[in-house]
Amino acid sequence: MSEEIKREESFEFQAEIKKLLNILSHSLYTHKEVFLRELISNASDALTKMRFISLTNQEHEGKDLPLEITISTDEKKRTVTISDTGVGMTRDEIIQNIGTIAKSGSLEFIANLSEQAKKDSNIIGQFGVGFYSVFMVADEVRVRTKSCKKNESAFEWHSDGTGKYFLHSIEKENRGTDIIVHLKEDEKEYTEKSRIESIIKKYSNFVSFPIIVCGEKANQITAIWKEPKKDIKDEQYNEFYKFISNTEETPLFRLHTSAEAPIQFYSILYCPATNYEVYGFKKLEHGVQLYSNKVLIQSDCKMLLPEYLRFIRGVVDSADIPLNISRETFQDNRIIHKIKGILSKQILLLLQDMAKNEKEKYEAFWRQFGKILKEGVHLDFDNRDLLANLLRFNSSVCTDSDGLISLKEYVDRMKPDQKEIYYITAVNRETIEKSPYLEIFRKKGVEVLYLVDPHDEFLLSGLMEFEKKSIRSVDQADLDLLKDTDSKIIDISKEPQNYEETFKHLLKTMRVVLADKVIDVKESHRLSDSPCCLVNPEGGPSVHVQKLIQMVDNKYKASKKIMEINRKNQMIQNLARMNENPGYQPLVEKIVQQLFENALMQDGVIFDPLSMVPRLNELMEELTKATLGEGKRIII
Ligand code: ADP
Ligand code: MG
Repeated sequence: MSEEIKREESFEFQAEIKKLLNILSHSLYTHKEVFLRELISNASDALTKMRFISLTNQEHEGKDLPLEITISTDEKKRTVTISDTGVGMTRDEIIQNIGTIAKSGSLEFIANLSEQAKKDSNIIGQFGVGFYSVFMVADEVRVRTKSCKKNESAFEWHSDGTGKYFLHSIEKENRGTDIIVHLKEDEKEYTEKSRIESIIKKYSNFVSFPIIVCGEKANQITAIWKEPKKDIKDEQYNEFYKFISNTEETPLFRLHTSAEAPIQFYSILYCPATNYEVYGFKKLEHGVQLYSNKVLIQSDCKMLLPEYLRFIRGVVDSADIPLNISRETFQDNRIIHKIKGILSKQILLLLQDMAKNEKEKYEAFWRQFGKILKEGVHLDFDNRDLLANLLRFNSSVCTDSDGLISLKEYVDRMKPDQKEIYYITAVNRETIEKSPYLEIFRKKGVEVLYLVDPHDEFLLSGLMEFEKKSIRSVDQADLDLLKDTDSKIIDISKEPQNYEETFKHLLKTMRVVLADKVIDVKESHRLSDSPCCLVNPEGGPSVHVQKLIQMVDNKYKASKKIMEINRKNQMIQNLARMNENPGYQPLVEKIVQQLFENALMQDGVIFDPLSMVPRLNELMEELTKATLGEGKRIII
């Protein structure tokens, strides 16, 4: 004994792990029982790797050992032991795998979760820190392991889950790993056979190796995807989902496929109920497992579904895929390519069906995953029409910002003479509703899509048209909608005398004053209240897109616009009168400059506010003087 202690080395846990252990022992998880799920899942991973090594005829220890997990308990010693005949670990692997957190960012993420989310046992399995969950129930853990690699010695790792762990070499006959969990005083329940069995039923029923609890097999081991659909109950499907995605949620929907031709494959795919990407965690990993005739080849196969369906979880099994396919050759594998094509189309068709027949469910899906699905519009030409039909937006027809409409609904509601689909972009619905660009649309009762996701405008520009209707931003100069606007709407009897002329004169003055800032100054047909706005010449990028470009490239100069003036606006009318008198010229110029900058501000375009302040102060000085009757009075 004393000799063994001498040979024992001690190690400090990586600082990240210390923090994690602290979080785990204090708040994470309301269901401590999941520690068993995590240990079984690790054992199963180790066995999967082992099976792969033996099937591909690589050298290894213990050729005749059965691949299985054994769980035994000792009530007196208060221990539960999880043993596997998997790949085991070498000394270096132990230090690497259970002394450090492999996935960067996991800890920050967990530490930043809300208290509520921490209690949610769904979270932990997603972040590759499952092993440590054992310290929720254990005051000491021993990992005894022997690698399957030839001529490696066995080691024991042990720790009480605070700051340190210890390592020494041991004698161990067979390859594989035993995890000996010494339970805390009040966690005795995990030595009961029935308790362990019920946890296995709940979380680990589909582990594809036998789990033997005190001499009896406790799990089911079926490749459920190969069973006929009619034999599988909803419950089983859901259980299988929970198993493969390490969660307690039920999926939003599923798709079970068994195809014979042109390629034979089986698959069950699920859509989760929650999108973890929106929690601010990094981009989701692909979660589809690839099997070749029930043997797992890869647990996170990226090639089976396109990027924009990366949230889908499930399994695909095809005997036509060779076991020893390498990650590099996936890309060129014709069969995988075909399966990908078939499955993406099926998922989109299923979504299309849902959108039609189960509107609420589809909207729930869209709110979670719409952001990711949208990426497909730019990437998947084959399914572009399908994807376009699946898009949802808020619009002027909706009563609040939660409302969603499809492009199809928009088109069906279009006015008989309306030729284009219109959209407006801003940070939120509130800002949009204040926009002067909408004035004409309101007056004519024409619907406008409200885009609040910064990507939406790129999305629609990628689409260009929908059902042959072009999609246009409301701030474009040459909207079809404006063509038939006859000037008769304007009640000229209410206009000042000679207004036709003075208004034209004002436009001229403005052109001169703003010569280096705008392309042109014109009478507006779209404004009913606001004095002016800036519009884009044909084909120019919209204000919003320009702002986005500015964010990434601060040298980018927004392109010049056309300034539109509302002849009905009282201030414009006054300005036109003042403009007739040369004595007011300096003041008119200042007001014109200010009007232009106001319009820029209204579009949210960033510019130098400091240069504006002196001008505003001067204008206010004039205003105060005029109010007190001390201003420059020129008879007009
Ligand atoms: P994850 O399973 O997501 O990688 P864990 O914290 O559960 O994260 O496990 C960390 C690592 O420890 C595993 O990736 C694996 O390399 C190693 N490991 C844990 N348990 C075993 C086991 N029973 N046999 C072999 N390796 C194991
Ligand atoms: Mg694990």
